[in-house]
Amino acid sequence: MENKLGLYIHIPFCSSKCAYCDFYSITEPKKHQRYIDSLILHMEDYSETLDNYDIDSVFIGGGTPTVLSKKLMITLLDGIFNNFNITKDAEITLEANPATIDTGILKRYRSEGINRLSIGMQSSCDNELKALTRIHTFDEFEESFRAARKAKFDNINIDLMYGIPEQTTASFKMSLDAVCDLQPEHVSVYGLKIEDNTPFAEKIETLVLPDEDEEYAMYEMAVNTLTQQDYVQYEISNFARPGFECRHNLKYWNCKEYLGLGPAAHSYLNDCRFSFRRDMDLYMEAMEKIDTEYDILDECYNITPKERVGEYIMLQLRLNQGLDTERFRELFNLNFERIYGKYLKIYVENDFMKKDKSTYSFTTKGRYVSNYILSAMLDFDSNIISNIVNGTDKS
Ligand code: SF4
Repeated sequence: MENKLGLYIHIPFCSSKCAYCDFYSITEPKKHQRYIDSLILHMEDYSETLDNYDIDSVFIGGGTPTVLSKKLMITLLDGIFNNFNITKDAEITLEANPATIDTGILKRYRSEGINRLSIGMQSSCDNELKALTRIHTFDEFEESFRAARKAKFDNINIDLMYGIPEQTTASFKMSLDAVCDLQPEHVSVYGLKIEDNTPFAEKIETLVLPDEDEEYAMYEMAVNTLTQQDYVQYEISNFARPGFECRHNLKYWNCKEYLGLGPAAHSYLNDCRFSFRRDMDLYMEAMEKIDTEYDILDECYNITPKERVGEYIMLQLRLNQGLDTERFRELFNLNFERIYGKYLKIYVENDFMKKDKSTYSFTTKGRYVSNYILSAMLDFDSNIISNIVNGTDKS
């Protein structure tokens, strides 16, 4: 089959809410069963429509999917396998929180088809985990990681965070060394962002956060240390042993199609981007009462040619391989150099970007501030792109 698709399943449940988190998740275990039943109804809705797609990546994320009972997780997996064409070599990832998994459970999930785990460690320092209000200690994380190895998981991601309250470059180095000692196949390194409407945002004045220079030193340290340990950085925040890059996330960055199910899940399918509302009860009612009109859609729009160009630039430049201007021309019949060359010159001259033959990519320094550069880039000459893609200007 030609058509490939990624499938994201959102499990919006956690044991408790971390003070920095703005993902959509709730702490109501009584709703687990009804929610999984609703998700399966939703899968059944899509089953026929997506019959001509092969699903080669599944990501069960959250929230904390591993707060579900073993029975419910297996029901969920059965729902996925019964409703979609999952390829034999599909990457099937489960996000796991330490303290919610053990070898017995993981062995069972491994035998049911899950072949990749993503475990949130964040830090090896218990005072930092406490500051983040995480529910686990570093010892518990280590125990979970070893349990995963015992259960024969040979593709594990560890999430690590910098910019945590009370963190120093020395303590970040300890966390980084702890990760390297465990030798996971994949490491994601994220900077803490203080998101609006979180407990952290409310008490930001009282948080003792590392300053910008320290944060950059931590990011640079992560890049250098992991690279020396034979991890390949393939995206701003992601490092992998060769061949262990996350197939599912690569779909997002390469503008490939994916379906996301559950409240707050996002999709990109048939040139349309859409997402479901962050409302668990509405979602469940809508799935149960199919003859009633419930509007569970949050965003839903067809991508315009201009948006497609902008998204492609934003997402390709996140990848270390960068943006190939020849490929850009093939895809959009546009001259990248002509539109952006003069604006990017300053970034190249100041070592934020590099140009290698026909490819533009960020340097480490540029990756750290890539959000600013990308949004500036898209503002540069928005009108020029509009004119070109609308056919009033030809390059
Ligand atoms: S466990 Fe993860 S999803 Fe749940 S509140 Fe904490 S950071 Fe958010």
